[in-house]
Amino acid sequence: MPLDAAVLDRAAHRRGEPDLVRTLRGEATTRVVLVHRGRLALAGPGPADGVALLDPAALADVGAAADEDQARWLFLGEGDGVAYVALVLPDDADAEEVDIEGVDASDPFAVLARERSWSGLRELVGGLEGPLAGLATEAVALAAWHANHTRCPRCGGRTTVENGGWTRRCVAQGVELYPRTDPAVIMTVVHGEGDDERLLLGHAAHWPERRFSTLAGYVEPGESLESAVRREVAEEAGVVVGEVAYRGSQPWPFPASLMLGFAARALTTELHVDGVELTDARWFTRPELAAAVRTGDVLLPGRASIARSLVEDWFGDRLPDA
Ligand SMILES: [Zn+2]
Repeated sequence: MPLDAAVLDRAAHRRGEPDLVRTLRGEATTRVVLVHRGRLALAGPGPADGVALLDPAALADVGAAADEDQARWLFLGEGDGVAYVALVLPDDADAEEVDIEGVDASDPFAVLARERSWSGLRELVGGLEGPLAGLATEAVALAAWHANHTRCPRCGGRTTVENGGWTRRCVAQGVELYPRTDPAVIMTVVHGEGDDERLLLGHAAHWPERRFSTLAGYVEPGESLESAVRREVAEEAGVVVGEVAYRGSQPWPFPASLMLGFAARALTTELHVDGVELTDARWFTRPELAAAVRTGDVLLPGRASIARSLVEDWFGDRLPDA
């Protein structure tokens, strides 16, 4: 699946090494990815140039400033003798408090934020291959957890960062806190056999016109994945689902989802669109879907998404891009 090329070794056994990131920053082979508000610094002016992998020596100014917050430096892993770390810039690094040159030259974060080009994961993923896709996703996901979990969820107290950025600890209670991931199910819903086999696609209220995709939703507390698939399809489209089979997963760190992909068999075909999550839903045979995509009557989700993979998995081939 896109966004999860697990070639890089996360090297979890190294996270507890004292001063790990500080040590790695002193090694010439270490490479740094920069994260700012969920975006990654690029190696050139556009997303096609890919993610920048920087020499830590070139970031000495920023590195010193970053030491004031332990969540700025995160250990990502290693591969082929190279250690990878993320440097997370403060959200306000590109705030509009600037001098006449356009940049606050006294703030190394602001200088860095202005001098690099940045891109979100979804725009990048088409041009991201192999281990870099996993590295970039890991960096954005872990940075998002820190950004949203600075306080202890039990007592509201201060927390400190440990284990190369992989845990936080409540200062008052000593409790260790781990990065969270929110499971969501996403599914093709299919009815019939052979030439009559049809796929259910829906249009969500907040999507662009003519966008159709698979149904999806968050898993609720105390719910199995299979039950979540059946509940979501019943709630959103009024269709009863029988058999449910797992097809694969995709991290979706916007900010913390894990998409679990399923192929579901429909027992009924009558549609009752909820009008809230979904405003339209339709059944498509393979020739109908191919024709609708070709004419532009249906705009499928992009290639970075598991939704696209699931639809093409059912279709049996690649469908053309819009
Ligand atoms: Zn606490």
